Amino acid sequence: MAQYTPMIQQYLAVKAQVPDAFLFFRLGDFYEMFFEDAINASRELEITLTGREGGADEKIPMCGVPHHSAENYMSRLIEKGYKVAICEQVEDPAEAKGVVRREIVRIVTPGTVMDSKLLGESSNNYIVSLVSREAGYAFTACDISTGELYTTKLAPSWELVVDELNVYNPSEIITDAALLTTIRESGVTWGRSTVLTEWTQSDEKLLDEHFAEDSALSGLSALNRNGVALLLAYLKETQKRALTHVKHIRVYEPDQFMTMDPFTRRNLELVETVRERAKKGSLLWLLDKTVTAMGARMLRRWIEKPLMSVSRIEERLEAVDLLYNQLIVRDDVKQALKEVYDLERLVARISYGNANARDMVALKHSLQQVPLLQEVCAQSGSATLRKLVENMDVCDDVMAWISNAIVDEPPVSIRDGGMIREGYQPYLDQLREASTNGKQWIAELERQEREATGIKSLKIGYNKVFGYFIEVTKANMSALQEGRYERKQTLANAERYVTPELKEKEALILEAQDKMIDLEYELFTELRDRISQHISRLQKLAEVIATADVYQSLAAVSAAQHFRKPEIGEGFDLQIEEGRHPVVEAVIQDGSFIANDTRLEDEQGRILLITGPNMAGKSTYMRQVAVICLMAQIGCFVPARSARIPVTDRIFTRIGAADDLIGGQSTFMVEMMDIQVMTEKATSKSLVIIDELGRGTSTGEGMAIAQAVIEFLHDRIGCKTLVSTHFHELAHLEESLRHLRNHCMAVKESGRQVTFLRKLIPGAASTSYGIYCAEIAGLPDTIIQRSYELLNGFEERAAGSAQVAATVADVVPASAPIQQLSLFEEDSAAAVSGKKKPDTKSQLVIDQLKGIDLINMTPLQALNLVYEWKQKL
Ligand code: ADP
Repeated sequence: MAQYTPMIQQYLAVKAQVPDAFLFFRLGDFYEMFFEDAINASRELEITLTGREGGADEKIPMCGVPHHSAENYMSRLIEKGYKVAICEQVEDPAEAKGVVRREIVRIVTPGTVMDSKLLGESSNNYIVSLVSREAGYAFTACDISTGELYTTKLAPSWELVVDELNVYNPSEIITDAALLTTIRESGVTWGRSTVLTEWTQSDEKLLDEHFAEDSALSGLSALNRNGVALLLAYLKETQKRALTHVKHIRVYEPDQFMTMDPFTRRNLELVETVRERAKKGSLLWLLDKTVTAMGARMLRRWIEKPLMSVSRIEERLEAVDLLYNQLIVRDDVKQALKEVYDLERLVARISYGNANARDMVALKHSLQQVPLLQEVCAQSGSATLRKLVENMDVCDDVMAWISNAIVDEPPVSIRDGGMIREGYQPYLDQLREASTNGKQWIAELERQEREATGIKSLKIGYNKVFGYFIEVTKANMSALQEGRYERKQTLANAERYVTPELKEKEALILEAQDKMIDLEYELFTELRDRISQHISRLQKLAEVIATADVYQSLAAVSAAQHFRKPEIGEGFDLQIEEGRHPVVEAVIQDGSFIANDTRLEDEQGRILLITGPNMAGKSTYMRQVAVICLMAQIGCFVPARSARIPVTDRIFTRIGAADDLIGGQSTFMVEMMDIQVMTEKATSKSLVIIDELGRGTSTGEGMAIAQAVIEFLHDRIGCKTLVSTHFHELAHLEESLRHLRNHCMAVKESGRQVTFLRKLIPGAASTSYGIYCAEIAGLPDTIIQRSYELLNGFEERAAGSAQVAATVADVVPASAPIQQLSLFEEDSAAAVSGKKKPDTKSQLVIDQLKGIDLINMTPLQALNLVYEWKQKL
């Protein structure tokens, strides 16, 4: 290292602190990058790579960006998932002995972005810390752009961590090396690309100091203390500031919310669509009529975390109900929210010292709206809304401070003055007067000089280099009195002069101006610091505003889409009358969506086995049931004529999609793994939805597995289940499984013409009309004809296995020609009576079955066994 110049040596020493970040090294008006950083940055940012002498034999690779446009370049790197360390000169170069001292002032990482251009307005940007102990995981998430911090303890099961990561969709995860490997190896993806950072340094002393005033601190478990302390230490290390806006730890229990695995979240298209990964077409898109950015983010959080508590859901529904019915109140709330800016992020900028005078004016405007919102909610007639604003702190003192101090339309920069109101501070007013008087004096001088010299075109001007000057055209120069004017600058056809008295006045004016600007800056930062002492009050207020916004949004959508208030309860039975899929209905737009009833009841059947051709509407129907349950639990009205919804602890969906291939695993393997998780996690309060169960393998196997899974759900779990299948043969299960009912999507046949009626009716469907679909798709006639011939042949050969046609005209219950053995029959209280004696092959299997320790087997092992048996039979 010795051969490098002192400056490069300094660079290398700083760079060693941040080996995984681009180091933006301040040199005068530029941020420079050297060595590898320069090579990589020039490639990523498409900027020129140059070289610089650094004392060694070879030039050092270098590239740089001007400091005034650096933010843009940093953003681009962050967006690509990199980290950027900003290294500034921390002493005045004029006073420095040797190389100017430089220090890293902040490390920007994808999880610690504050720049509003990089932050999506309507979504949070979380950084998550994970700590693993024997007792489980501490999961902590923080959004430093809003100051929110959540922590929870998860049981020692990796799936729970993955579920939680899916809720927060973090842009950065910090944890130890072992967990990072687990994350990488599990191949899970959640939305955006997440940066993984190894970090193990936790600082409990800092934790105690930072949250000294937060009552939640004392209630934290040792594990969660560790998790929060780890995150806080990382934030301190990267942000290098106090983070005064991260004030409050929100501790929650995972079972306060409905659980959904990543696949379910994606499949129900809660916040983005499966195909385009776009908000448009998702449930969030439909429900989002929020007015404020805070409200939009809160709505997203509500959708990601449906409630489990009946009373809390009812509280929300009560507010939505009122706003649904009282259009005027709803409009008033909306009106009151109109001028409200993103308080959460504004407050975070204040805490960071990034807020400018315009932000203050935005804060003032927002606060001005608050009394109106408070009044509307208090008078609304809704107990929930009244409670929401009951002890609301409207922060009028903060509003008054800003209103007294800051002019109505301040400039963007806080370094050029023009922000502070007249009358706010006497000395500032004096300086202003001096400056104004000075300018008047100059105007007067100009008049006098014109008179004295007789030069009408004489004028007094100002520029930054020469200050004030008297300008006379060359033609008039001779009219000037000798010796009185000192020549300063020569232009093409004019000369510029100064006089001693002009110089003297200039000094006074400029001094007043400098002082004015300094004083304004000082007064502004003093105000900003004062407000930052009141951050938690403003944050509480922001939450109230966001909540009111979400209520009005849910009410507005519910009214526009003709949703109805659901009845929520702790019981088991689910009844939906004329339910619709809210998003499909909204997208179709022409009102042609066909409503369907759903009854999943302990006595009347809690498993629906749905058969029907492709495109008949099976998966839409099944999703609609899940979405309706979820909407009810976030406190929204639901797309149905009426709905009685029991609280669901978990929605599990396995809905085949084309892009199932994760990490090279086959669709079938993924399906089996998901089902394995489901068999472990589902309870009787869960809702399970499986589309095209067992389709990824051969018919025999697929059917065997499908049946085994259905039996397992029926006998062991007892949850509400919707299963669609193209194995019509499974219809016989209705005979042996007490809680299962066959249903199908009705179609109307006339000749070879098939019309989908999209109506769910009892009974099983006959064929899957696959050939009809092929015909609609335009396959050549010869293929279609041949297919029908072959099908007829197959059907003749399979004679004996009676099937049931389900058309609107003719719906009959399925018969059960094939007697099959229920795997779990012995365990089942619901086993059908009158079993037939099994044949000898079956007997072999039964004997083997009796010998195994079923309780200690994983469902996957069980399925493998089923496969083996299937081979034997
Ligand atoms: P399946 O799962 O049976 O193959 P889908 O649920 O994917 O069928 O539905 C196929 C198409 O039919 C969907 O794209 C949707 O637009 C339309 N559809 C489904 N259900 C309905 C309904 N109840 N009313 C109107 N159109 C529907």
